[in-house]
Amino acid sequence: MNPWYGKSAVIVSLVVYIIIRAPHGRRSMKVPIAEDRKGGLEIGLLIGAWLGTTIVPVVWITTSLFAVAEYTLHPVPYGVGLGMMVLGLWLFYCSHTDLGTNWSVTLQTREEHSLVTTGIYSRIRHPMYSSMFALGVAQALFLPNWIVGPAYLVSFGLLYVFRVRIEERMMLDRFGTEYEDYVQRTGRLIPRLG
Ligand code: SAH
Repeated sequence: MNPWYGKSAVIVSLVVYIIIRAPHGRRSMKVPIAEDRKGGLEIGLLIGAWLGTTIVPVVWITTSLFAVAEYTLHPVPYGVGLGMMVLGLWLFYCSHTDLGTNWSVTLQTREEHSLVTTGIYSRIRHPMYSSMFALGVAQALFLPNWIVGPAYLVSFGLLYVFRVRIEERMMLDRFGTEYEDYVQRTGRLIPRLG
């Protein structure tokens, strides 16, 4: 298959992602912050994730910088990748809608923060991170390049591993037993069975 099938899918994914996030990004700037737990490493990993998920694919689409690692795109991984992209964008939309003004790019809580346990959050504690893993798998499948393809998963995976425990600690400190109970009935990235 022509690599432009992969390139077009990346462009569509990025544009839809930006459209979903934009209103939340603007609104979140106006919501007062109560606590901020981001440190230097978190900022470094966030920049790394931004490079891996957005800048590297855009450079791949617009230049021949990564041409050495190109391979041929096949219909089956491409189709599975498109499915993962739709799943990822849907999860991303649902989690932003459910989280509302409680959302933040870094590790923060708001002055009027409420613990969201409804909608997609009734089964999964980190659906926004699940959505990003789904988008990362999608990118690895429909982006026919051995360097650029895995860049999303690797860069976001590093941020996730570093961040998830600190985020849960922060939520536990703020919401106490309400969060403990919530942890018992939910899964981190996929719904808890039974
Ligand atoms: N980890 C979540 C949210 C990502 S946004 C997800 O993947 O869906 C990060 C911010 O969301 C954190 O700084 C925290 O303040 C907030 N947050 C995380 N889980 C929350 C919940 N269940 N209810 C309210 N706010 C939450």
